[in-house]
Amino acid sequence: MVHLTPIHSAETSATALDCVHPITDVSLLICHELRTPLTSINGALKLLGYQQNGTLSDDAQRLLTIAINNADRLTRLANALENQAVPLLTLLSTTEMDLLQIENDLHRAVEQQEFELAYQPIVAADSGQIVGFEALARWQHSTRGAISPEVFIPLAEKTGLIGTLGRSLLDQACQQLRQWQTEFPAIPALSISVNLSAVQLLQPQLAAEVDAILRRHHLDPSSLKLEVTESALIDNKDLALATLADLHQLGIQLYIDDFGTGYSSLGRLRDLPFDTLKIDRSFIRNKNWAMSEAILMMAERLNLDVIVEGVETLDDVLTLRSLGCKKMQGYYFSAPAAAADIAALLGQQGGGRCFQVDPPVLGAVLDANF
Ligand code: C2E
Ligand code: MG
Ligand code: MG
Repeated sequence: MVHLTPIHSAETSATALDCVHPITDVSLLICHELRTPLTSINGALKLLGYQQNGTLSDDAQRLLTIAINNADRLTRLANALENQAVPLLTLLSTTEMDLLQIENDLHRAVEQQEFELAYQPIVAADSGQIVGFEALARWQHSTRGAISPEVFIPLAEKTGLIGTLGRSLLDQACQQLRQWQTEFPAIPALSISVNLSAVQLLQPQLAAEVDAILRRHHLDPSSLKLEVTESALIDNKDLALATLADLHQLGIQLYIDDFGTGYSSLGRLRDLPFDTLKIDRSFIRNKNWAMSEAILMMAERLNLDVIVEGVETLDDVLTLRSLGCKKMQGYYFSAPAAAADIAALLGQQGGGRCFQVDPPVLGAVLDANF
């Protein structure tokens, strides 16, 4: 089953179905070329130009796959038949086709729970100790390899799959944290951050679901942090804020993710139920220390914690620490990693070793990071 949205020709802004209409002549040639029955080709061409959101039957889905897999040839054949020097017929761009296919595969992947989490340490700037993790979703597609969450999360939102996917990821993250807390009792107050999408915030039952997951894994609500981007509060703000208030009421801390990149209603920051700002990694990449310092100072005045994202070098660590940053996250410490690798890091931390966060001392032999 797949949900389709309208697809428009880039050149004419008519729908693809309009472009290939009438399709009978084209279809006959294509039918011969692809050795596929005429009815299938007609069906496939129609589906490429499907004009409404809807759910397709398995048969229709099969036809759509034929059309997608052969869209290049279909386009060329249709153009040749109509003797067009400049192609008028733009069925789908490669990107659109890719997205359509990925969207299609997403349904199966969610059903079969093909998603895993990678965990990225959040580190105390003064001691170099891990204080928590951000859980980041990963999807290893059977033929395409790793697909970025920046691609599949928006598709999951669009198709309505985000509720099921988000719940399952949150469940995995909580289960994992509980396991680490049990395995490493000497390491105090480990916590986990999970990203919430804007669409999840509009689900009135979200807080109750999160509560049930915490109880199932015997986790204190203070060990869970939920990350929301500023842009998640644009649509249906009242409902989103009500959900955030419910989550906060449970004792869960809320983080503003990618701070500084979205619309920032600085004036309202104090009234929103956030506990921590995560300074977006673009500030660090651009070495924008003046802005980083300004945000750190503002956060302090507002009694908000700060985590800086995208810390990639010891120089970044030292500069940010001198500006008052207390928690950091980034490739300098560790890229997002599989649970087994994180357990190894925690084992080393339990044994007294932690990340290098001090300037190198001339003549001294220093341990490399872990
Ligand atoms: P985010 O929440 O801001 O996550 C941080 C992103 O920065 C991650 O990308 C991480 O791999 C990357 N990163 C971490 N340290 C560094 C660094 O030092 N340098 C650079 N250049 N990048 C670094 P990733 O995993 O590709 O995730 C991208 C975005 O996808 C996330 O941004 C988040 O908005 C979204 N996302 C990921 N997992 C989930 C999820 O489970 N649910 C939802 N709703 N969104 C998710
Ligand atoms: Mg995040
Ligand atoms: Mg972020």
